[in-house]
Amino acid sequence: FIHKKCPVAAKNDKYVTYTKKWTIPSDTKPGSYAVDFVEKVQFRRTQITATETVKINSGETLSATGFNARPGGKGANQSVAIAKGGGAVYHAGLLGNDAQWIKDFMIENGVDMSHTRISETEGNGRAFIQVSTATGDNCIVLFPGTNAKYTPEDAAKVLESFGPGDWIVMQNEISCGGEIMNLAADKGLSVLFNPAPMTPGIVDEFPFDKVTVLIVNEHEAEDLYRDLGGQSKGKGGLDLAAELLKRFPHMQGVVVTLGGEGVVAKFRQEEDRIRDFIIPCQKVDVKDTTGAGDTFVGYFLATFVRAQNEDYFTRVQYALEEANVAASIAVTRLGSMNSVPTLDEVKAVLK
Ligand code: ATP
Repeated sequence: FIHKKCPVAAKNDKYVTYTKKWTIPSDTKPGSYAVDFVEKVQFRRTQITATETVKINSGETLSATGFNARPGGKGANQSVAIAKGGGAVYHAGLLGNDAQWIKDFMIENGVDMSHTRISETEGNGRAFIQVSTATGDNCIVLFPGTNAKYTPEDAAKVLESFGPGDWIVMQNEISCGGEIMNLAADKGLSVLFNPAPMTPGIVDEFPFDKVTVLIVNEHEAEDLYRDLGGQSKGKGGLDLAAELLKRFPHMQGVVVTLGGEGVVAKFRQEEDRIRDFIIPCQKVDVKDTTGAGDTFVGYFLATFVRAQNEDYFTRVQYALEEANVAASIAVTRLGSMNSVPTLDEVKAVLK
C-alpha cells in the first residue's frame, strides 16, 4: 500500500476509495472533515476532533495506551439496551464456559437470562477492538466462540415460550440465524433485524421478506441494496431506505443510521400510508463508537413497544428520537454494553 495523506473532505462528500495507509495532515484543523478507514479500501467522512497520525503497516507492532476487558457482543448489547430502555427482554443464546461474569452483568442490568445456557466445553466469543484515542473510531477482529455453536433446536425450544405480539431481535453474529428467523416469523413473532456484521450472501441466508423492521447503518444499506442487484451509487440513506422498503412488501420500516449525522427512516403503516423520518444528532464529545448501533437497536424497540398507545407514526418518531439520543450518549463512553445509558439519562436530553 502506498503511503498517502488522508484527504480532507468537503462537508458534503460521502465516500472515496483510498489506500490503506494514511495520515491526517498535521495542519488539519479540529472541526474539519476527513475520510476515515472503514473497510479494506473504503473510507467515510468524519469530523476530526483532534489531529493524529495513523500508521497501519503489515508486520508492525503498535503500543496501546490502555487495555480493558468488557462485556459485549451485538445481541447481548442490544438486550441490555432494551432492558435499560424499559423493555421486558429475554436473551437467548449459548454462552462460553468463561462467560459467567457477562451473564451476571446482564442480569444486573435487567435482562432475563433464563433462556441461555453455558457450554461445558467451549469458550465465549471475543471481539478484539482497537479504539482511536483521537477520534473514538474503532477497528474490530472477531472470534465467534460459542456464537457459532448455537443450533436451530436450541432456538425452537426457546421459541415455545413466545408467539404473536412478541418481537425477536436478530443480528448476523450467530450460527443458523436465518433458520431461527424463519422459525420465529412462522410462529407469528415480529422480527427486528440488524444484519450486522454484513457478510457476502446475507440476502440468501436470511428471509428478508419476513422482517418487520430493518435497522442498518449507511454502509450496510448500500451493501444490502447492491446484493439485491440495485445501484447504490449516489443514493443517500433515505433513498436506500425507500428502495429496500419497496423491495420487501411485508416490511413495515427501514431505519438507516448515519453515525454523528443521526438517522433517517421510512415506515409504512399500510400500503399507501408511508412516512419519512429525518432526525439529526446532538453534537457530543466522542470517546468510543463501539456499540452505538446496538444501543440504537435496543432503545428503538424498547420505546416502540412502550409507546404502544400512541398512533403508529408517533410511536416510530418517539422510538427513533430516543434511540438516537441513547446512542449519542453511548459514544461519549468507553466500552459497549457498559456504555448504554439509562432511560432517565436519555429523557433528560430530550426534555
Ligand atoms: P457501531 O458499529 O459503531 O456500533 P453503527 O455503524 O452500527 O455503529 P452508526 O450509524 O455509526 O451505526 O451509529 C448509530 C447511532 O449512534 C447514530 O444514529 C447516532 O445516534 C449514534 N452515533 C454514532 N456516531 C456518533 C457521533 N459521532 N456523534 C453522536 N452520535 C453518534
